[in-house]
Amino acid sequence: MHGLMMEGSLSITSIMQHAVANFPRQEIVSVTGDNPLHRYTYADAFARVGKLANALARFDLAPSDRIATLAWNDYRHLEIYYATACAGYVCHTINPRLFAEQITFIINHANDQVIFVDPMFVPLLEAMRGQLGGVKAFVVLTDKAGMAENSLPNAISYEALIDGQPEQYSWPDVDERDACALCYTSGTTGDPKGVLFSHRASVLHAMSSVMMDVMGLDSRAVVLAIVPMFHVNAWGMPYSVPMTGGKLVLPGPKMADGETLQQLIEAEGVTYSGGVPTVWLALADYLEKSGKRVPSLTRACSGGAALPQSLAERFDRLGVRLEHGWGMTEMSPIGTYNIPTSEMENLSAVEQGELRLKQGRAVYGVQMRICDDTGLELPRDGEAFGHLQVRGLFICSGYLGLDESDAHGADGWFDTGDVATIDAFGLMQITDRTKDVIKSGGEWISSIQLENAAIGHPAVAEAAVIGVPHPKWTERPLLIVVPQPGESPTKE
Ligand code: AMP
Repeated sequence: MHGLMMEGSLSITSIMQHAVANFPRQEIVSVTGDNPLHRYTYADAFARVGKLANALARFDLAPSDRIATLAWNDYRHLEIYYATACAGYVCHTINPRLFAEQITFIINHANDQVIFVDPMFVPLLEAMRGQLGGVKAFVVLTDKAGMAENSLPNAISYEALIDGQPEQYSWPDVDERDACALCYTSGTTGDPKGVLFSHRASVLHAMSSVMMDVMGLDSRAVVLAIVPMFHVNAWGMPYSVPMTGGKLVLPGPKMADGETLQQLIEAEGVTYSGGVPTVWLALADYLEKSGKRVPSLTRACSGGAALPQSLAERFDRLGVRLEHGWGMTEMSPIGTYNIPTSEMENLSAVEQGELRLKQGRAVYGVQMRICDDTGLELPRDGEAFGHLQVRGLFICSGYLGLDESDAHGADGWFDTGDVATIDAFGLMQITDRTKDVIKSGGEWISSIQLENAAIGHPAVAEAAVIGVPHPKWTERPLLIVVPQPGESPTKE
């Protein structure tokens, strides 16, 4: 017997409508290139989202067409997130730090129709002219006055695009299984792979991530989204913060600048934030050097790379508890989060200190297991380590344009490429990685790509790249070269 309950679609549109109805005067504050600090409300934002959705009609798009962004975290990027997804298109966020060839590959592979680009990335796209076959138009994220000369075909400024458009838009009833966003990840070997998020998965991920044992967000929260919106949707914050009605603070291109972060946190009263250890390191350095503090920020998430003990302890002294989280692009991204249970509070300080550095317990909606090389599940004793596999409500079932078997095994579990232990508290700890990649400042560097580049040099016979620990970037690539006989290649 089915339950007698109404069914509504778990859609990004439902988040937008909830935010407008309940938190219209809540603020969104952004650092942008053309207006150092921009401030408006959810009501203002979603009115402009309606204008943008109307403006998109001029590009003659079909449902689920991909619309790309090459942009920092700011209010226009947020508007694109919502206008594209809620109008039935797919917001494809591109990482501007990738190599130009990777960006060209990604744009063509995704078949992007329109690209929204921050002024500072226009030269990057200009250099790719002629290689971006399917792109119909470029929208530069500025106003008419800020629009510099450029050689992009069909280029228009964002403000000119939406100018004069109606705020009302007749939002379609999207199927919750439809795609809303696309993000390529280089976290595995080979070409970057497209992770295609559905409305349903994104909403469930947002609901799961705001729980008290995870981000713990509510309408009084002031959230600084430091993680780039091009990196797994800024860990879902552009969805989870409007869902709970908190104030959203977006740092634009200044996400790794300790001084800007401190100023934003102090001025806006930021209560929660999320970023990679490299960013927290920059903030700790600035706070210690300047003597300034961030009193409103009592807790924040460090994820994307292992949380170093020394960093956690520095932030303890600065009055901020860094909470450890782990996830993957393929997981929307949050897989685990580490907040002590009451049971753990009875342990000694030393034991608690050890436990807090683990990557955390699975959040609701994620199942985790560790397996040996034969696929046998290993015990949750904190000692046995094996391949970390996951499945759940917001984990990718396949990559765009690839076979399902590229994403998971026949039994439906996704192999993360991480090696881990799981203890009796359910806390997972990463001990190693089987994927041949290096994570530097939160972004992937492919060791194979560097090896290939080095081997392409005439003076090099053999080359290997390994990851070595680095105090600022967590990991950096180290290139080891065997020269051709009689050659002595220089570092350069
Ligand atoms: P991405 O898809 O770029 O978010 O990268 C996901 C990968 O980053 C994971 O599979 C891990 O290898 C690594 N990672 C993410 N968070 C952590 C963490 N807290 N500790 C160690 N590695 C992490």
